[in-house]
This record gives sequence, C-alpha cells and structure tokens, in this order.
Amino acid sequence: MKKMTGKLTDSHCHLHMDHYQKDRRKVIERARREGIALMITIGIDLEDSQKALKLAEEEPDIFCTVGFHPHGAGRVTERDMEALEELAKGEKVIAIGETGLDYYRDLSPRETQRKVFMEQLELARSLGKPVVIHCRDAYRDLIRLMVEKRAQEVGGVIHCFSGDWEAAQTFLNMGFFLSFAGNITYPKAEKLREVFKKVPKDRLLMETDAPFLTPQEERGKRNEPAFIKYTYQLGSELKGIKLEDWIDQVNNNVHEAFPPTSQPPL
Ligand SMILES: [Zn+2]
Ligand SMILES: [Zn+2]
Repeated sequence: MKKMTGKLTDSHCHLHMDHYQKDRRKVIERARREGIALMITIGIDLEDSQKALKLAEEEPDIFCTVGFHPHGAGRVTERDMEALEELAKGEKVIAIGETGLDYYRDLSPRETQRKVFMEQLELARSLGKPVVIHCRDAYRDLIRLMVEKRAQEVGGVIHCFSGDWEAAQTFLNMGFFLSFAGNITYPKAEKLREVFKKVPKDRLLMETDAPFLTPQEERGKRNEPAFIKYTYQLGSELKGIKLEDWIDQVNNNVHEAFPPTSQPPL
C-alpha cells in the first residue's frame, strides 16, 4: 500500500482505554507516522470520559468526546449527569457522546437508553456542542427521538453507520454526518458499501472505532488508528476520488462536523 501523507483523521477511536495501557505511546507514534493528523478519542461513561479528556489534554493532535454509551445507560445517575456536564465544558471536548440506542446487545433497559440519550441531546444543545451517536438495530426509535428533540439544531455524527439508505437520508436531511468504520471493508458488507457510495462526499467521515472493528487486512488483531489507512483506501475507491483528494475532503468534513479541531494544535 502506498504511504499516505498529511491529514488523515480518525474521527472515532477509544485510545484512552485499557486495551492500550501497555503501548499507548507506540500506538500514537505509529498513527502519526502513517500521516494521521487528528484523532478523536471517545468516552463511554463518566470514568472513561475523564480518561479520554486527560489524554486529549496531553496531546495536541488528540481531541475527545464525553458521554454515556447506551450499554451503560442503566447505571447513569443524576449525579453522573451533572458531573458529565462539568466535564463537557473542557476545551478539548468537541462533542457529547457516544450516546444513542443499542437494541442489538440490549445491555440496558430500552426505556432507560432512550431517557439517557435524550438527556445528552439536551446537554449538547445547552453547551452548543454536537453529538456523536451510536445506533444498532434501533434506527426507528432513534429517528423518532431525534425528530422529537429537534436534533437537527444540535447536529453531529452517526458513528459506525450500519443502517440502510432510507435511514441515511433521514440523518443527512437533519444535517448529520455519517461516519464509516473498518467493517465497511468486510466481504459481507456489500449493502453498506452501496449506501456509502450514495452519501454525498462532503458528509462522510472515516473512523476506526479502535480497539474494535479491525479492517479486513488486519483482522484478528487489536485495531488501532494507524489501520485507518485501509478504510481511507477503500473509501477513495468506492467514491472514485483520488486518494489525496479524498483525504483532504474527509479532513474538511471533520473540521465542519467538529469546528474546534480546525484550530492549529496549541
Ligand atoms: Zn459505538
Ligand atoms: Zn465507539
């Protein structure tokens, strides 16, 4: 594979998690060597979000989000929500999330998932920050709540998009960006690739969701931001856009979705 230069972005990873405890520094260095200019590390609960922010504050090219993942929604207390609000004011915190609904794993009661999601939409609105949304097998409910809460005024990203073209269009009409992860490289992901091709190029983001969803070329290994190159490669092929131009396009999209990332590193 050709060496990629410049401004690759990993718009969704979990670099602060324990999976990288032993070699985090090396993982970050490898990403930089592969030309990754920006990584967004994503919080999933209060303690995890604190770790995400700490890492983001240490590294100029890492930003973070803070939020409650639907898996743990059942454990979120009112006090947690207040603590999240404080954390979310941090300068390196560019969005609220990942939040959303997951009816596939169903690890928290659905009713609670919906409540915690709506509270985070409200928090994002009050802070003027976008949301990063996780959704599995719950698109109908998610869209219903987003319409009800006027999510188009909040904006943000549907991460690791796995829905159909109809759902994609609804999110696009609300002004959301769609982010695609390494699973788009899997042999069985034909339908997802077809959706990807139809999404306007200025509304797409690329992510690893590392340590999860390792691209086909490295499957079986722990995922890491450096592996985003495979997803970019496929993205440029599917879109029929030269790789360098595709990298620039996605980079612009990330800055559009998360405005603070467009400022040069401090
Ligand atoms: Zn997710
Ligand atoms: Zn994630």
